[in-house]
Amino acid sequence: MTKLSELTTMRVGGTPAEILVARSRDQLIEFALGVWQSGDDWLVLGGGSNIVAADDLSGLKVVKTENTGIERNGNILKVQAGEDWDAFVAFTVEQRLSGVEALSGIPGCVGASPIQNIGAYGQEVADTITRIEFLDYETRELQILENKDLHFGYRDSIIKRGKAGVVTWVEFELSDTPSSLERVTEAVGKELNNPAEIRHAVLETRTQKGMVLNELDPDTHSCGSFFTNPIVSFGFASGLPIGAPRWEQPDGRVKISAAWLIENSGIGKGFKLGGSKAATSSKHCLAISNRGGASAKDVVELARFIQTQVSNRYGINLVPEPNLIGF
Ligand SMILES: Cc1cc2nc3c(=O)[nH]c(=O)nc-3n(C[C@H](O)[C@H](O)[C@H](O)COP(=O)(O)OP(=O)(O)OC[C@H]3O[C@@H](n4cnc5c(N)ncnc54)[C@H](O)[C@@H]3O)c2cc1C
Repeated sequence: MTKLSELTTMRVGGTPAEILVARSRDQLIEFALGVWQSGDDWLVLGGGSNIVAADDLSGLKVVKTENTGIERNGNILKVQAGEDWDAFVAFTVEQRLSGVEALSGIPGCVGASPIQNIGAYGQEVADTITRIEFLDYETRELQILENKDLHFGYRDSIIKRGKAGVVTWVEFELSDTPSSLERVTEAVGKELNNPAEIRHAVLETRTQKGMVLNELDPDTHSCGSFFTNPIVSFGFASGLPIGAPRWEQPDGRVKISAAWLIENSGIGKGFKLGGSKAATSSKHCLAISNRGGASAKDVVELARFIQTQVSNRYGINLVPEPNLIGF
């Protein structure tokens, strides 16, 4: 039986009771309803790139989304949940459409993209998702949720906050006018003029940071950023050292770089606890990576250590970005 360590990019996680692979929307609905009916613990799995799964998962039933397909109608694209995210981005760039090109290289499936409102370099899916189809766990009914119903926030949505169910497809509205993205310009040091140039530059920058999956590079055997950037009050931010990178938010609060807080709490790149096979990435201390044979316990212990160090030094509790399953 397959272990979740084989289906997740962090490469940890035990053997679940059952894995049901849904290859169509109808199968996804059928499998989810069946698993819910059984009353057992359940998990919807996409590409497994934002999950830390426990070493013992014996009571868990997994429904894996492998329903694919992109339907285009003008600038509206309806995408099945199991479609590979980056393949979808590549398709939109080929079609000269703008809106998700800065999200190139993010692993995972389209169905997971609204869960934490994936984002990078000044773009996030909250800007382009128009609606989703959602099979609701409470009512067991299909709903169409519009953008406003999803209550998107920074790496957050109503689903991440606990509205349980399954996303079966996601609809996006893209644009035929190229985006102008300050954060990409800042990262690559030059003005970029079209979605293809932006995709190319983003992939290059992400590769240097170990943020594009690579079988041979253990820095990428991770969940990407392990913690979200904390958002604090303006007053609290004023008390932090001047060198801490910060971004003012529309509501007056301030987002602080989690990577800076970690590094300045004494946890550098490649840091690990004695005897552990989990370490911060050698390229980026915000990612926790599996150096080969790490257990879920190794990952969680390192995450807790980082949280304690940052909290002791700066009084900020870092919030993990990945979903902890079975702990
Ligand atoms: C190297 C690397 C770089 C990354 N860079 C970024 C980045 O720049 N920006 C960013 O935002 N994220 C980033 N991530 C995190 C991750 O890729 C995204 O969160 C991605 O959307 C997860 O997709 P997935 O299909 O792998 O989800 P999974 O890991 O399979 O699932 C994540 C969560 O979503 C739920 N879920 C998945 N599919 C569905 C569905 N169809 N219906 C309901 N719930 C569902 C799962 O139950 C789980 O709770 C990165 C990860 C890695 C490994």
